[in-house]
Amino acid sequence: MPLKRLPAALLSLLLLTNLHAQTPEINRKVEKLISEMTIDEKIGQMTQVTLAVVAKGGWSNEDGSLDPEALRHAILDYKVGSILNATAHAVSVEKWRSVQTEIQDEAKKSRLKIPVIYGLDGMHGQTYTLNSTLFPQNIAMAATRNPELVAQAAHITANELRASGVRWEFAPVLDCGRQPLWSRFPETYGEDVYIGKTMGATAVRAYQADGLTSPTGVAACMKHYLAYSAPRSGKDRSPSYIPEIELREYFLPQFRDAIKAGAATIMINSGEINGVPVHASKYLLTELLRNEMGFQGVIVTDWEDIIRLHTRHLVANSPRQAVVMAINAGVDMSMVPSDYSFFDLLKEAVQKNEVPVSRINDAVRRILILKYRLGLFDNPYPEEGTLANFGKPEYQVAALQAAQESMTLLKNQNNILPLSKDKKILVAGPSASSIAPLNGAWSYTWQGNQEQFYPADSKTIGETISEKTGGKATVISVKGFDSTQNFDTLKLKTAAADADIIVLCLGENAYAESPGNIRDLALPENQMALARVAASTGKPVILVLTEGRPRLITGIEPSMQGILMAYWSGKKTAEAVADVLFGDYNPNGILPYSYPRYSGEIVLYDRKHTEDVREIFNSNMTWDGYNPLFPFGWGLSYTQFKYGPISLSAPVLKGSGSIKINITVTNSGSRDGKHSVELYTHQQYASITPNMKRLRAFKKINLKAGETQTVSFTLTAADLAFVNTNLKTVTEPGNFDLMIGDQKLSFSYQP
Ligand code: BGC
Repeated sequence: MPLKRLPAALLSLLLLTNLHAQTPEINRKVEKLISEMTIDEKIGQMTQVTLAVVAKGGWSNEDGSLDPEALRHAILDYKVGSILNATAHAVSVEKWRSVQTEIQDEAKKSRLKIPVIYGLDGMHGQTYTLNSTLFPQNIAMAATRNPELVAQAAHITANELRASGVRWEFAPVLDCGRQPLWSRFPETYGEDVYIGKTMGATAVRAYQADGLTSPTGVAACMKHYLAYSAPRSGKDRSPSYIPEIELREYFLPQFRDAIKAGAATIMINSGEINGVPVHASKYLLTELLRNEMGFQGVIVTDWEDIIRLHTRHLVANSPRQAVVMAINAGVDMSMVPSDYSFFDLLKEAVQKNEVPVSRINDAVRRILILKYRLGLFDNPYPEEGTLANFGKPEYQVAALQAAQESMTLLKNQNNILPLSKDKKILVAGPSASSIAPLNGAWSYTWQGNQEQFYPADSKTIGETISEKTGGKATVISVKGFDSTQNFDTLKLKTAAADADIIVLCLGENAYAESPGNIRDLALPENQMALARVAASTGKPVILVLTEGRPRLITGIEPSMQGILMAYWSGKKTAEAVADVLFGDYNPNGILPYSYPRYSGEIVLYDRKHTEDVREIFNSNMTWDGYNPLFPFGWGLSYTQFKYGPISLSAPVLKGSGSIKINITVTNSGSRDGKHSVELYTHQQYASITPNMKRLRAFKKINLKAGETQTVSFTLTAADLAFVNTNLKTVTEPGNFDLMIGDQKLSFSYQP
């Protein structure tokens, strides 16, 4: 499908089809198959192993080659129904195709010839695959406020996965990024529920857009249900304590909307909430997810998470009890993934009547339906023409557009930016001459930090700045993010003497999951020291941050003349950074999170009133409770946008009606530019303490210099709802403030 047709096609698909629809014919086939299956065959379908289990040399496998005997053992002896991921290496798309072919050939030798479903991570493009197209991480995609870019990236990823013969995409991540210490914060769409819902459901629709049987569609996997993203300590897979009212208000809506969008599968949070591991929670998996939200698809565990109920969470007193707990709670498939213990334990548990056969049939039914819906029974092999859908030149254009729209200009003192290409630029800092810190987690490998697997044409910021300036820039290359290393500050000072401007590239190297745990949100001291040295030269310093989460820079911020947040924006990060620095692109990204000023003040934009005000003495209040270094939604442009007054179709929103909101936006500067118009509401009084602000809608517009456009929004009562103390989502009557840009108006709601 041509990219430009994508959004309209997605929309019509959404309106016309129900992606969950299972034909009666599929149901008949599945029931017949189940009636013929032995218990071993059923449990095999519920078993997922990792590629290392069937690869030559196991975990040390480098080229994806399979071990025929190990593959036979997995598929014919253990009747394994699913395989995932790769070893620590990235392999070519052609290799992926031959791996898939060998696996399906083996499955054809089994008694019932049930095909294997292969799952792969593609958080910002397909992982483990040489030359796959990498887009900005979700956090940067959220900064674009442009769902069309999310759809485009997901659609391309689906094409590349299918070109590799893979039909199950372990994305999107729907976790709400409300804990900036968390190492998977960059995989989230940031702190806001509405952005998470909008972008997440868009991604699901796009992955599955062409229908699961199409050679360009994949089954999406919503991750990681539920509330994985808010561990109290900030450490990955450590406990969270979240009252149900908050679970439902901030963490559940993203999943509810993705289910409505037709998501085929879901992966479970490896953590525990209020002392209950999610993998053992019948309440969360069956009552809430299945019965209340009506999810029909496959529930897969995360990595090793069943056995960890015994080994880590200590709620199961034996490995078998762990299996019993998880399966009875509602899990359909176990990402075991490194051995066959799950198979043996579940079989024993069924024999001892600890798990009813009806639960096994229920799980197997969902897995087989998914395989039928994906067309695996008709043709499990990589389709003929799909290889041509890998690595198309236009994907690079899409990756660049997404990276450019994510760039967020945080500071531009005295309009130091854009820079003239004639200036002598000194480029320094650890992310100036590396690629991994521009891409981050899940880039060709799990951690994303092995640069030998990146495409040969990947560029560093040093290189793109050199290109823009016709080779005049000086790049001080410092490799490594070791926080104990001391940078060569003398070299920087000496080079600065000859430069007009310093571009200092700081931030985080690539990391994923627990290896990305940190003890301190502050940017490491050696990088802060480097910034102080750069500032001490007296030359203007532009700070470029390539980082997955907001590392504190409060101490150095005043001495930086410009600050550009580049996030981890994928393959084209360096190009996008240089385009913005030199004014070839007018920045329009805005923050999807509140950039904290102090480690002791992690207050989010949708705070409560009592977080906003502070009692100083004797009822004397100040209003600096929300005091981030840069607020949620912040981002500068090289032009200016001015808002006219808000106009409402009526002062009162009644019952099930709607209210139309118009506002004019004028580009009053001298450059064309894109701009995100955001609509917030605040209920003045409510039965539970209202948020000071909630984002209810956004629209991204393109305005020529001097142009004015009217932007319209429509609100209904459902848009103003919140979860009350009875855990019901309600809209209470009352007065609301409506805020767009610097404009504000009130209206009321009457049921
Ligand atoms: C991660 C998941 C991922 C899975 C398979 C886990 O460690 O939490 O997000 O899909 O591994 O790679």
